[in-house]
Amino acid sequence: MTQAALSPGMTIDGAAVPAGATIDVVDPATGAVFAQAPDCSREQLDAAFAAATAAFGTWRRDDDTRRTALRACAAALVARAADIGAVLTAEQGKPIADAVREVYTGAAWLNYYADLDLPREIIQDDDKGIVEVVRRPIGTVAAITPWNYPLTLAFWKIAPALRAGNTVVIKPSPYTPLSTLLVGEILRDVLPAGVLNTVSGGDELGAWMTGHPLARKISFTGSVATGKHVAASAAPDLKRVTLELGGNDAAIILDDAEVAAIATKIFWSAFQNNGQVCAAVKRVYVPENLHDDLVDALAEQAKAVRVGAGTTEGVQLGPVNNKPQYERVGSLVADALAGGATAVAGGQPLEVGDGGGYFFQPTILAGLADGTRIVDEEQFGPALPVVAYRDLEATVEHVNNGRFGLGGSVWSGDADRAAEVAARLDVGTAWVNTHLALGPGQPFGGAKWSGIGVENGPWGLHGFTELKVLHRAR
Ligand code: NAD
Repeated sequence: MTQAALSPGMTIDGAAVPAGATIDVVDPATGAVFAQAPDCSREQLDAAFAAATAAFGTWRRDDDTRRTALRACAAALVARAADIGAVLTAEQGKPIADAVREVYTGAAWLNYYADLDLPREIIQDDDKGIVEVVRRPIGTVAAITPWNYPLTLAFWKIAPALRAGNTVVIKPSPYTPLSTLLVGEILRDVLPAGVLNTVSGGDELGAWMTGHPLARKISFTGSVATGKHVAASAAPDLKRVTLELGGNDAAIILDDAEVAAIATKIFWSAFQNNGQVCAAVKRVYVPENLHDDLVDALAEQAKAVRVGAGTTEGVQLGPVNNKPQYERVGSLVADALAGGATAVAGGQPLEVGDGGGYFFQPTILAGLADGTRIVDEEQFGPALPVVAYRDLEATVEHVNNGRFGLGGSVWSGDADRAAEVAARLDVGTAWVNTHLALGPGQPFGGAKWSGIGVENGPWGLHGFTELKVLHRAR
């Protein structure tokens, strides 16, 4: 990886802008600062929104130009997948293969939306007139992303926003700014100036964006707490908002499930990306008759995982992305252990290399109940609580009574029986005998505190449009 790739700059109005101030970027595998990213000033942010708003007038006009441009973006990203993946691993921690996969996911989303039509519907055509319902773009989008999947989640926004004819100012998390900035550099030569502007800085920059008078739509992915600030900030100006927030997904095992058939799937549904997935399995409810077998099978998986720096060949899980999150996972595990839970696997930080990185042992916790923090809260890390239950109805009711409603899954030898239970979960996505199965055509969003609106599929595209009626009298 070149030093240039490690210090990408912001892209505003199609050009590089010099950084006045900078923020440090830490390698989570060592805990050491390895790069700086620009700390966008208010004036630079104003310039980004002004450029996006100016570009909107032309960009919104031609459908075919946009389709072609999106496909060109996908090709440009794939051509630089190895470089982008290396930067993403350096700042995020995930294994290189997973980081490179994010680039391909971004390209897949761009191509999917390039192919998707924007509907025009004639609802009346008679002697009185023609009434057509069309979807028009909203304007300049403020897009804000978290640190767990910086590129995947960026393209869940960029692809449909641009396809619909909007322009974008995007800000990645301060923990993972570089990969998005590098994408901005690569796409400078592909997109017209001002269509995609990439800025970086701290949390305050996000707040400036959501309050910016030129932002007409906010597309936000992050925590529930920040999502509420974003909604409040959007309200005075009636900005349109999509919020993709946190989750505490339950996997509910039915009493006829075959442990050997489901344990590996459940394990990776919980530990993919080190558990730092909004819709990961974050707690398992298992009937008493299967409890010990499932706990043993999950523990066996956890002990076999290869944890290390994302740059090390063969590593399956990297470090937790940042120090506050690493400390939070540790404190939730310690709280459970102090309350009488058993760590059947893991339970401790893990020393890798010189010991400065944010590594934590993949942890399976048993012998705990609802009311324990790690069961009731979102841990967002490599520790999974397994809770034994007797009464399925009470368990479904308990899960539905929580504030989160992102996803959930039901596991059984009888898929129809599981589907009946899944149908009763108050969530955005209910899976049967799988979890985290997602695709560009499938809408993704949360019920209750897990979000407002959806991303992906035609529904995600519609979120970047507003309905408009064209009524022609005869
Ligand atoms: P976070 O809310 O701390 O930060 C997310 C982004 O918001 C960052 O870019 C941050 O700089 C910015 N931000 C912070 N304060 C802001 C403010 N006042 N106004 C505007 N922007 C602000 O979340 P995080 O810790 O980066 O990410 C983890 C959370 O994201 C978890 O809760 C996870 O479940 C959630 N998440 C949800 C989805 C989903 O699609 N539903 C996907 C991934 C992650």
